[in-house]
Amino acid sequence: MLPIKGWTLPGVFTLGGAQVLLKEHGCLIGQRVVFCGSSPLLYLTANQYRAMGAQVVAILDTTPFIAKISAAGALTAAPAMFARGLGYMASLRRGGIAMHHGVELRAFEGTDSVSAVNFRKQGGEAVTLPCDAVAVGFGLKPETQLAELAGAEFRYDVAFRQWLPHCDVDGRCAEGVFIAGDGATIGGAQAAAHTGALSACAVLDELKIAVTGIDRTRLRRQVARLRRFQRGLARAFALPVDTLGRLADDGMVCRCEGITAGDLRGAIRAQFGPTEVNRLKAITRCGMGRCQGRFCGLAAAELTAQSLGASLESVGRLRVQPPVKPLPLALSLAESAPAAARDETSAPA
Ligand SMILES: Cc1cc2nc3c(=O)[nH]c(=O)nc-3n(C[C@H](O)[C@H](O)[C@H](O)COP(=O)(O)OP(=O)(O)OC[C@H]3O[C@@H](n4cnc5c(N)ncnc54)[C@H](O)[C@@H]3O)c2cc1C
Repeated sequence: MLPIKGWTLPGVFTLGGAQVLLKEHGCLIGQRVVFCGSSPLLYLTANQYRAMGAQVVAILDTTPFIAKISAAGALTAAPAMFARGLGYMASLRRGGIAMHHGVELRAFEGTDSVSAVNFRKQGGEAVTLPCDAVAVGFGLKPETQLAELAGAEFRYDVAFRQWLPHCDVDGRCAEGVFIAGDGATIGGAQAAAHTGALSACAVLDELKIAVTGIDRTRLRRQVARLRRFQRGLARAFALPVDTLGRLADDGMVCRCEGITAGDLRGAIRAQFGPTEVNRLKAITRCGMGRCQGRFCGLAAAELTAQSLGASLESVGRLRVQPPVKPLPLALSLAESAPAAARDETSAPA
């Protein structure tokens, strides 16, 4: 998620959240929905919302159309998926849905809940679009916390602008540790299944159990092709990092702890201020809340790099702190109950 003025207003959903709500619960996030950000999911989810009766007010894509054209070569690595994506765009176009490329998202407006999106068109014209819900997303990012706890080595990936666990072709990232699927790098559903098969085969090799009937060379080739496609997507739907530079000082970055862009910039500007995100977190509490930086971690890193005029790689990444996700209290009570029962039956020391 990239923080944009008003992104914490009720009615503003992440794009993934909007799709999950529809697919898992049969709910729409609103009746007049603006889809915005930079992700192929914009076009898919907008089609799904339309099919379920929502009015798609507009698609506001922050990446210019020319970026999509220049990524076309890499996107042909998965021609069927590429064609499907073009089909989603064409279907919205046929339905008369307004689509703007290369926009600058300026603010989600409203008092009690979102009522409009304010953006600037590529040519410079400022526009306010009334709506009752917003789905905003900037692509998927792998959750790498468990990989880090398991001992994976991390390397910076320029194309994805992220630190990722380093794996070999079968997903091996440390002695006896494998990562399959999106936990290593976003590859999509097909790549997740293929990398799962490859890791499973490698584990069986290590256990000296013979594997037959699986063409690993073909699977590896397919994974490489799908990863090339994802790198194309990262170019076609680039993260609009400039947006962060324009975020006003009162713009919320870490919603769990209520830390604004001004809090972060102030800390960085201070004498001997942090030049690395873990130090920034320690000083400001950004990323210390219940989401543990899942929402704000990448934005905080981008903002730190911008404020320092340094590379994103040089400001590092938030180190994981268990528990990785909040656990219900009931779970810990359930786990401690049998232990307490055991204590009662055992003889006192
Ligand atoms: C909104 C959305 C839309 C998508 N649309 C597409 C699409 O159109 N096409 C496409 O190819 N891909 C799409 N993807 C990506 C696709 O879902 C993933 O590539 C695929 O699911 C990755 O598989 P995986 O097994 O790596 O991870 P997942 O499918 O996410 O599986 C991980 C599993 O691990 C479990 N888990 C997590 N943490 C723990 C823990 N601590 N302990 C125990 N279990 C844990 C989770 O509950 C989950 O069941 C989409 C993803 C999202 C989020």
